[in-house]
Amino acid sequence: MKIRYDEALPITARHDDIAAAMRDHQVIVVAGETGSGKTTQLPKIAYELGQRSIAHTQPRRIAARAVAKRIAEECDVELGAEVGYAVRFDDKTSAGTAIRLVTDGLLLAEVHSDRSLKRYDTIIIDEAHERSLSIDFLLGYLKQLLPRRPDLKVVITSATIDVDRFAAMFNAPVIEVSGRTYPVEVRYRPLAETGADDQLDAIAAAISELPRDGDILVFMSGEREIRDAADYLLGKKYPRTEILPLFGRLAAADQQKIFSSHPGRRIVLATNVAETSLTVPGIRHVIDPGFARISRFSQRLKVQRLPIEPISQASAAQRSGRCGRVADGICIRLYSEEDFDGRPEFTDPEIQRTNLASVLLQMASLDLGAIKDFPFLDPPDSRAVTDGLNLLYELGAMHAERLTKVGRKMSTLPTDPRLGRMLLAADKLGCLADVLVIVSAMSIQDPRERPLEHQQAADEKHKRFVEPDSDFLSWLTLWKYIREQRDNLSSSAFRRMCRDEYLHYLRIREWQDVHSQLRRTAKDLGMKAGSPNADPDLVHQALLSGLLSHVGLREPDGREFLGARQAKFMIFPGSGLAKKPPRMAMVGELVETSRLWGRTAAKIQPEWVEEAGEHLVNRSYSEPHWSTKRGSVMAREKVLLYGIPIIVDRLVQYGRV
Ligand code: ADP
Ligand code: MG
Repeated sequence: MKIRYDEALPITARHDDIAAAMRDHQVIVVAGETGSGKTTQLPKIAYELGQRSIAHTQPRRIAARAVAKRIAEECDVELGAEVGYAVRFDDKTSAGTAIRLVTDGLLLAEVHSDRSLKRYDTIIIDEAHERSLSIDFLLGYLKQLLPRRPDLKVVITSATIDVDRFAAMFNAPVIEVSGRTYPVEVRYRPLAETGADDQLDAIAAAISELPRDGDILVFMSGEREIRDAADYLLGKKYPRTEILPLFGRLAAADQQKIFSSHPGRRIVLATNVAETSLTVPGIRHVIDPGFARISRFSQRLKVQRLPIEPISQASAAQRSGRCGRVADGICIRLYSEEDFDGRPEFTDPEIQRTNLASVLLQMASLDLGAIKDFPFLDPPDSRAVTDGLNLLYELGAMHAERLTKVGRKMSTLPTDPRLGRMLLAADKLGCLADVLVIVSAMSIQDPRERPLEHQQAADEKHKRFVEPDSDFLSWLTLWKYIREQRDNLSSSAFRRMCRDEYLHYLRIREWQDVHSQLRRTAKDLGMKAGSPNADPDLVHQALLSGLLSHVGLREPDGREFLGARQAKFMIFPGSGLAKKPPRMAMVGELVETSRLWGRTAAKIQPEWVEEAGEHLVNRSYSEPHWSTKRGSVMAREKVLLYGIPIIVDRLVQYGRV
């Protein structure tokens, strides 16, 4: 493979320094503005130095794919040959792959089968400033591994945030790559001052304020917001302007549009993916509403939330830095300078805002020792550690601070611990085929689309799949329907059917991909899928073993459920159970927005909870009395799970006579 460099990229000017540092040090840190060429050029420098097995990590799948494609193009090789990518459920590498783009989560998973990461001679941890759980875990792991692997080279890259901390952790030199070349003018346009009705209106006003001729990047907080904004802006009929969405789940071809040349002006509506990991070429101006969805774990309710929050000053700086690279740029922030000054400097690392069950499980299975002794850059909050351990205890994965057999098996499954528990239970109960379908569905976004303007039509189409007592069974019904259609229709007719029936084609494909991957993994682990259409009671019991703290008891004549630890939730309106909620239910997810919602619900029996939650329930007895009829002392038994009265007033034999 022949390596060439683009002279115009800032990193090229530092090529020799970087190569020398890589040669002389085990770990180096490369810092630089986004777009300076770190991601695309560093693996080439390593390759040029003779490294032939380079793991290059990205925080997101969309970036891993796009970067692999780009590097392959630059090196003029076929994607999957010398340069390839491997992300969860999608592997485009071959024996000759020297530069392997992976998600950081996937590299972490590889530690399971390759404890010393022997297959690699170089590891590039890209975008380390993102400080996801996987990144923090990898950094700590590498810190422990490096003395045992003196031949392993590590390159850590970061936007110009946190650089010194990485360098201090590894005692590594820092090479700074200068990036931006043109000045960016930052303008503050808070809604209150501009008189805009809402955020969309404010975005439109900002677009009118900007010069007509430059491409604009607008940062949005999510896919739905992007779709809404796209519709709104299309309605404005800007002359010679193309509106392009950019988010992780977008079809590959649509993502690729971002990188192709184009006539006229473009307005790109992007999620955080454009903040540092993907460089949209040719951007002149940025509009920054100042928000992002940030995943947070609620300490009180023990649920993961995705609230929209004001971004940090560092994120705002990254966003404004996305323009001014081709010429002078303007960044319009839709908030005030005082607001900016009051914001936190950085976003806190994920380890400080997530449920640690998954990490604890991985750590235990890798024998990394106590979490308090692991060399984390920022050790997790001890309360969060306790929550994680509690969840593992709930799932039967840990007992007396040790991994159980169930826990060990769970750690080998590429799913969230709750979902892993369901698969293991299903294997035991003989309903794995069905639960595989359901668990795959729970790992993707709902493929049933409900576009705002066609909600009724969509609901009408989806009505056929609704099972009155269980949204989980609705997944199975939908799955069967999709399989039939796919077998009977040509692929273009299948696509058309999806569109007409408000089913998201790509998500359905992802559902099928995840399913086949999980089925394969389960088979590799010696689990037996068996045949579908198992007894629905068994299916629900298997699901319940992963959802014990997602059980709720409805008030006799209300809609609200009493959940674990006094949490109150309602069943999400999209659920088939929302109109006539059962007395006792379990929900797949608890999501807190304006209030706490339970998504994907099913009716359950108290006895199932008692059985699956045997290790968690509290039993108390009252009114002991002699029963002549039964010839023994009887009492009333009460069974509580996390404070929810699962069974009350059950007459049981009490003690011995
Ligand atoms: P950094 O990692 O420092 O942010 P990159 O290596 O991602 O920088 O990008 C370097 C340059 O390569 C940028 O100017 C970017 O526009 C360009 N680039 C990156 N990926 C692509 C792509 N898929 N298509 C076209 N240009 C790209
Ligand atoms: Mg990069």
